[in-house]
Amino acid sequence: MTIEIALAGNPNSGKTTLFNLLTASNQRVGNWPGVTVERKSGFAKKNKQVEVQDLPGIYSMSPYTSEEIVARDYLLSHQAHSILNVVDATNLERNLYLTLQLIETGIPLVLALNMSDILKNQGKIINISKLSYFLGVPVVATSAVKNEGVDKALKKAIAVTEDAISFPVYDKHFEASIAEIVDVLGNTVPAASARFYAIKLFEQDEAIWQSLDLSSFQKKEIAEIIKITEEIFTEDAESIVVNQRYQFIEHLIRMTQSQGDDFKLKVSDRIDQVVTNRFLALPIFAFVMWVVYYLSIQTVGTMGTDWVNDVLFGQWIPDTVAAFLNALKVEAWLQDLILNGIIAGCGAVLGFLPQIIVLFLCLGILEDVGYMSRVAFVMDRIFRRFGLSGKSFIPMLIATGCGVPGIMASRTIENERDRRITIMTTTFMPCSAKLPIISLVAGAFFPKNPWIAPSAYFLGIATIVLSGMALKKTKRLGGAASPFIMELPSYHLPKMKSVSRYALDKGISFVKRAGTIIFVTNIFIWFTTSYNIFLQMVSPDKSILASLGRWLAVLFSPLGFGDWRATVAAITGLLAKETVISTLGILYHSGAEVTETSKSLWAPLQASYTPLAAYSFLVFNLLCAPCFASIGAIRREMNSLRWTMMAVFFQTGLAYGVSLLIYQFGLIYFYKQTVGIWTWVAVAVLAVFLYFVFRKAPAEKVAVIRLEDLQQKQAL
Ligand code: GDP
Ligand code: MG
Repeated sequence: MTIEIALAGNPNSGKTTLFNLLTASNQRVGNWPGVTVERKSGFAKKNKQVEVQDLPGIYSMSPYTSEEIVARDYLLSHQAHSILNVVDATNLERNLYLTLQLIETGIPLVLALNMSDILKNQGKIINISKLSYFLGVPVVATSAVKNEGVDKALKKAIAVTEDAISFPVYDKHFEASIAEIVDVLGNTVPAASARFYAIKLFEQDEAIWQSLDLSSFQKKEIAEIIKITEEIFTEDAESIVVNQRYQFIEHLIRMTQSQGDDFKLKVSDRIDQVVTNRFLALPIFAFVMWVVYYLSIQTVGTMGTDWVNDVLFGQWIPDTVAAFLNALKVEAWLQDLILNGIIAGCGAVLGFLPQIIVLFLCLGILEDVGYMSRVAFVMDRIFRRFGLSGKSFIPMLIATGCGVPGIMASRTIENERDRRITIMTTTFMPCSAKLPIISLVAGAFFPKNPWIAPSAYFLGIATIVLSGMALKKTKRLGGAASPFIMELPSYHLPKMKSVSRYALDKGISFVKRAGTIIFVTNIFIWFTTSYNIFLQMVSPDKSILASLGRWLAVLFSPLGFGDWRATVAAITGLLAKETVISTLGILYHSGAEVTETSKSLWAPLQASYTPLAAYSFLVFNLLCAPCFASIGAIRREMNSLRWTMMAVFFQTGLAYGVSLLIYQFGLIYFYKQTVGIWTWVAVAVLAVFLYFVFRKAPAEKVAVIRLEDLQQKQAL
């Protein structure tokens, strides 16, 4: 089978020179049917299976000149398997206007950045990989007169013929209107060109309006969409489209083109070559985050935490307060509440403050120097490979502080389905309230293992990607992912003032929570662990919470922590994730005799759980339904009770499944246990997970944004 490749570009971009190089003497010259526009085609000299079709030089795909009509009709006939778009690199702004329209046709495209020799002489630099990334097409630097890059460009053009198309994304209101028109068009036009036709109709392109056989209903709907969009933009439809393209190009050029003598940009580009490199980017990111978590949770931050836990809340405060209460002859139950409820509970949480401050100092520095925006860029590339939107990464980053603003940050995602997926998955990240759990498990059960704290971070990301892939394959949430464009500022040294401000803010809000919601829940937990249902003061294992916990603990025994204390801790985690720790603090403080050794919580925990069970507990709390505040945020952002319930169910079910896998397979692997019924359950769960992640996606449907949504937005 022959492959037909169309050469397209502005006049004088070097098409003829390139065409001659590619086809040598195998050329055919004639006229396009019906017009006096010259038609040239020829077989590639290096590959006779490839026919190169030279299209007339044009500036746009508007129907004004016979050249434009010829090029347009030819491309819309879909004879060409791919387009080799020849672009004059010294005149990028004007040339890219046609490029955008060519991409809209839905034919795979490779951009030949021609005249790159002149560009070099002018001292200008175009960042090819960024240009390629933002346009969503391969870009090859060529010089037709020097015969550089020409063969490579042709090879790419042959290679892309089977590739999926990604369209440039303009303003969200505009995109919504176009998606709506695509929906109205339905089967009237070929699916691949639907976007092209929709934009052309929007542009009021008479020739296209006449060439399509639209029903009067379709015409009315489209006219209505156009009218609404014109009102939103307060511009006429034609200039909306032109402006959309130029704004996109302006942005593109600002981010990809630089004068070679700009030292800062040059250094940044150098660093980016390494940091965003296809192969190095992920290992570098993993290493950086490992260092951050290891430093803050397992080494430097721990020193502060040890002091706060052992000295401040272990001796000084309780001893002073106890002496004080004794002197005042305060009643026993109140002493118990203050010492074993409030101080033990809040102290268990506040002890983690130093670690949290160190963590956010590190994250603040990474953000401030400009590294995090690179990570988002790299993640977008990876996410998109799995059909997810890279925009999901920003909420994830924010959720490492707190899930609530993380969920709210999903608002920046225009695509409704991608937004839902992000809301449902973003709280898998370890937020600052989950850090105490991570730290406690790492410290008490794995003191020598440098991987435990970082593993929580990576597990969070992996769960987001894998569950995102699974959700993306469901009917309700499927569809093409929307790419995004983000600024990549030059690197600079961190400003210590803004970084410390950032870390301090996180620290303050952590302390505030310990003083408010955690404080109140501690009183509640103290009460329910000190009394039985007849309001008699009893030992904790006869308390209200104990009976409730015992009843529910059966559920968790396949996960390794079917003990009423851990069960109760996991459940109180719904109030706030810090409560998991404060609950354990209260339960193990008042229960066992208080040990005089350091890390008073560690010893009873080590005695009650195996390291494997503790890790399983950590994973469950990391992934299960977030705290009430976050569930509330999910409810607001989903704007639907049903979706909220589905999210909570999904998260908790997933957490249960993952913990089950870890515990059951861990038993076999680390404890050489024999295979039992729960092992088989775990195998089945694994099979189900794998099926949902890797099954073939149902036929892709174009994501549709309803007209009512548009009108609603307009009303706002
Ligand atoms: P067309 O109108 O797109 O067919 O462009 P042509 O192939 O006729 O080229 C226009 C002019 O640009 C000619 O003078 C070419 O020699 C010159 N040209 C084409 N490609 C390059 C290139 O890569 N570098 C330089 N310096 N000149 C080029
Ligand atoms: Mg020519």
